[in-house]
Amino acid sequence: MSKILVTGATGQLGKAAVNELLQKVNASDISVLVRDPQKAEELKNKDVNVIKGDYNDYASLVAAFKGIDKLYFVSSSDVMNRFAQHENVVKAAIEAKIGHIIYTSAQRKSEDGTSPIAMVADAHWKTDNLIKQSGIPYTILKHGLYTDILPMFMGDKVIETGTIFLPAGNGKASYASRNDLAAAGAVILTTDGHENKVYEFGGTDSYSFEDISGMLSELSGKTIQYVSPSAEEYAEQLKSLGVPDEMIQGAATFCVAIAQGEFDFPTTDLERLLGRKPESVKDFLKAAYQL
Ligand code: NAP
Repeated sequence: MSKILVTGATGQLGKAAVNELLQKVNASDISVLVRDPQKAEELKNKDVNVIKGDYNDYASLVAAFKGIDKLYFVSSSDVMNRFAQHENVVKAAIEAKIGHIIYTSAQRKSEDGTSPIAMVADAHWKTDNLIKQSGIPYTILKHGLYTDILPMFMGDKVIETGTIFLPAGNGKASYASRNDLAAAGAVILTTDGHENKVYEFGGTDSYSFEDISGMLSELSGKTIQYVSPSAEEYAEQLKSLGVPDEMIQGAATFCVAIAQGEFDFPTTDLERLLGRKPESVKDFLKAAYQL
């Protein structure tokens, strides 16, 4: 059986991928790379092989990757240092002779720096290219925006306030849930025929916040309206409510990117790989807001 290593396994996507894998292969065939083994007690208790390593520490990566056939490479959450870290991962994968690298990339419309999220996303397209040039068989998973971020953007009081207030205009995005993306990753890690392929892992449909306000209205039985201010009005309003600048900036940038259609890629790749319908945005919201 192939030896699989999952990075980012103390994070949400990596942990979900390991849990999916545990339903398909023996724990002894699964390793995880973690920065802090204390955060991986739960995985250790499931007999997964926990290896300490850091994307910033090249030697730790080479040591961790020795004897691994398939690497599920979760993109780093450290946006400022991400590409240098990813270079370490890819070089270490080459040195350790990894057999197949599966990278969690991102959907995007533009790669020329004009995207409002270029600062966050450029490491993805650079990493995709690095992996393609590495000589290692690869699968690039272009993840759509997680459905999971919707409650973060809209706030947990959206049903009470009756208003979604976000600068996303009429832009649509093809959201996919983190759990479905993890499940599809586990399918790729445990089945054949995915070498040198790029999958568009968005949902099968795209939705605007107007559409989402309709879903929430239907689910809650209350009228939920969508108001799209300018990015400046949005920032001013949230600042006056005491929301930290970093959070405002992050949400505003993504919403302006949504307005430009940067994440509007409805496809059936995810549905095909899962062998079932992905979780719908409406079902996700129903559970998230307990409606
Ligand atoms: P998450 O919960 O923040 O997990 C990130 C994982 O990366 C954690 O396990 C973290 O380890 C690990 N990590 C960070 N820096 C590292 C380093 N220097 N060396 C080794 N591991 C490191 O994020 P997630 O929700 O699982 O998402 C996975 C990735 O998808 C994120 O990292 C980000 O690139 C991207 N993302 C995509 C979307 C989307 O909507 N498509 C949304 C959010 C994030 P620690 O536990 O030690 O911190």
